[in-house]
Amino acid sequence: MDQRTPLNLAYDAIAAAREVAATAATRADAQDRDDGFPAEDVADLARLGLLAAPIPSAQGGAGLGEEPGAAKLADVLRLVGYGSLALGRLYEGHVNALQLIARYGEAGQRTRLFADARAGHLFGVWNTEPAGNGLVLEEARGGLHLSGVKTFASGAGYVTRALVTGRHPDEAAPLMLVVPLEVGTRADLSAWRAHGMRASATGTLDFTGIPVAAEDVLGGPDDYHRQPTFSGGAWRFAAVQLGGIEAVFDAWRGHLARLGRGTDPHQLARLGEGAIAVEGARLWVARAAAAVSEALLPPERIVAQVDLTRLAVERSGLDVLQLAQRSVGLQGFLRGHPLERLSRDLATYLRQPAPDRALVSAAAEILQAGGMAGDLWTGGIR
Ligand SMILES: Cc1cc2nc3c(=O)[nH]c(=O)nc-3n(C[C@H](O)[C@H](O)[C@H](O)COP(=O)(O)OP(=O)(O)OC[C@H]3O[C@@H](n4cnc5c(N)ncnc54)[C@H](O)[C@@H]3O)c2cc1C
Repeated sequence: MDQRTPLNLAYDAIAAAREVAATAATRADAQDRDDGFPAEDVADLARLGLLAAPIPSAQGGAGLGEEPGAAKLADVLRLVGYGSLALGRLYEGHVNALQLIARYGEAGQRTRLFADARAGHLFGVWNTEPAGNGLVLEEARGGLHLSGVKTFASGAGYVTRALVTGRHPDEAAPLMLVVPLEVGTRADLSAWRAHGMRASATGTLDFTGIPVAAEDVLGGPDDYHRQPTFSGGAWRFAAVQLGGIEAVFDAWRGHLARLGRGTDPHQLARLGEGAIAVEGARLWVARAAAAVSEALLPPERIVAQVDLTRLAVERSGLDVLQLAQRSVGLQGFLRGHPLERLSRDLATYLRQPAPDRALVSAAAEILQAGGMAGDLWTGGIR
């Protein structure tokens, strides 16, 4: 495999992400079908070192995400999302998995799984499951085996290292496991007939019968939900969403310029409103990435900040979609117009779990915090 191994300082992850994004954008329309998947773009992520880039520097990797404020990782996620939101979703899952392995893996697991990432394996994190048929660990045929499914699993049939949550009958809290999978096996994409994000291969994966070895289990019971890492990690999907918002904004901006409609004051006013929304989302994402990576605030405050970031970015995305659709008009709903698929992908990817709960739990934290509003997110440190 022609794969660049990032070597700490010399590696430019942002340049790699720009290159991946530029090519992914040219392929995204062709992948926009029910059975689509950005296989060539994932190969580019491997070739340009981005699959290996989140491996910690202590393990000989580029340590993407260890930089101050996680600023480079935020930019990389944004850029990949700009090129293709489906690819951004897949890459975010891969980064999440490697970060969980770095945090909870034992030395042997880290060595083995990071070698897999270097070799081009695509990782995913699959937590979502249906009521009544979620993933469990069962004693069978003299050993532990998996039974049940994961749903809304991005990259189903393509991810070859799946980080999943599963319940052991003796434990109330779920365990994390990293399960090796073969390409093209156990995946059912028949229900993924989606409005957008078609190329993310978000399907159901049946794990029934897969044996579990001790070295497959990562960390201890409920480590997956440990805060602020669990809820705080949402900043990464907000960074990918930001890329999708910027892509919609640029398709809209390009349309106005192409048609010479940019001198109309109503169009200019909408574009100005859109620019405010984009920049607002960008600032929220940067602040949230820094809050999680610096960990200076108490865990519940970090979670509140990331919860608000999720909602601010969602609001920004919804505003930009509405403004762009009003500015471009019917043209933007016709297949072949740059805005059409970008809008569907963004509208779909903005759907993330429990937004109401994120808002009210952040509000409850703010209510009990006391002090001055200006100190809420700095703790009075800065
Ligand atoms: C493209 C894409 C890829 C994905 N890939 C993965 C993946 O790889 N792995 C994975 O684990 N998951 C994945 N997911 C699933 C994702 O993590 C969420 O499960 C999913 O996006 C939830 O969306 P939802 O709008 O149905 O959320 P919900 O949480 O169901 O929210 C829908 C609405 O119901 C409200 N609500 C939520 N709970 C309640 C309640 N108890 N009572 C009343 N109202 C409630 C919410 O506030 C919101 O208004 C993916 C999702 C998308 C869109």
